[in-house]
Amino acid sequence: MAEIVLEGVDKIYGGGVKAVDDLNLRIEDGEFMVLVGPSGCGKSTALRMIAGLEEISAGTLVIGDEIVNDRPPKDRDIAMVFQNYALYPHMTVEQNLAFGLKLRKVPKPEIARRVQEAAEMLGLEPYLKRKPGALSGGQRQRVAMGRAIVREPQAFLMDEPLSNLDAKLRVQMRASLNQLHERLGVTTVYVTHDQIEAMTLGDRVAVLRDGRLQQVDTPKRLFDAP
Ligand code: ADP
Ligand code: ADP
Repeated sequence: MAEIVLEGVDKIYGGGVKAVDDLNLRIEDGEFMVLVGPSGCGKSTALRMIAGLEEISAGTLVIGDEIVNDRPPKDRDIAMVFQNYALYPHMTVEQNLAFGLKLRKVPKPEIARRVQEAAEMLGLEPYLKRKPGALSGGQRQRVAMGRAIVREPQAFLMDEPLSNLDAKLRVQMRASLNQLHERLGVTTVYVTHDQIEAMTLGDRVAVLRDGRLQQVDTPKRLFDAP
């Protein structure tokens, strides 16, 4: 687990678009932070900078106790969950969960332990021998989350992970995400344009607009305000 600190972070894209403008945000160790705001406000860009998928144009980014401005994604000890699940179609669920750990040469018994634990947490045990094509959208999204969990990273980064699911599944997955966060307590940054997700998931919610941080507070104080 680790805190994530952004200090004066800017992102200016090639065309001169200032997608993120002087972002200052401290995400505490173990906190579930939601970045919310309308399309184009810079949420994904902020998340991708934390992941190292996008260079920062100015400012400082800290993960744990290290400045990671120049670190590639693989040296950041974070795991990202995307809305398009990016599963390997020819592999079983179990193989999908294990694959990244195998590449990292994690010992087999350790892989088995982590896969088992993630499958149990996510209710995926009955599906371990199936391939993604034989799963529902919700099950696939759980596998994608499982692949992040088995890495045992310092932080989870999630970009609209529920947006491809129907309304009923989204409700279920919100409950699952809350449980997972309670159980694992891993620092999480979660991007959504959906206020209900922000309210039900976030320990705190950061509201972005035109690349700027407008407000950051608990959901209660943000949304129950008179
Ligand atoms: P959000 O996730 O809130 O929808 P984004 O971070 O995707 O917002 O985009 C913020 C702004 O940056 C938008 O104006 C968008 O058009 C622009 N933008 C995003 N990605 C790129 C890119 N790769 N190149 C140029 N401009 C981009
Ligand atoms: P896979 O995730 O495809 O099973 P790896 O875990 O070995 O395979 O990932 C290959 C590279 O991509 C690594 O350098 C890793 O840092 C990066 N990577 C893979 N998955 C994620 C993720 N969920 N979040 C962030 N980076 C990832």
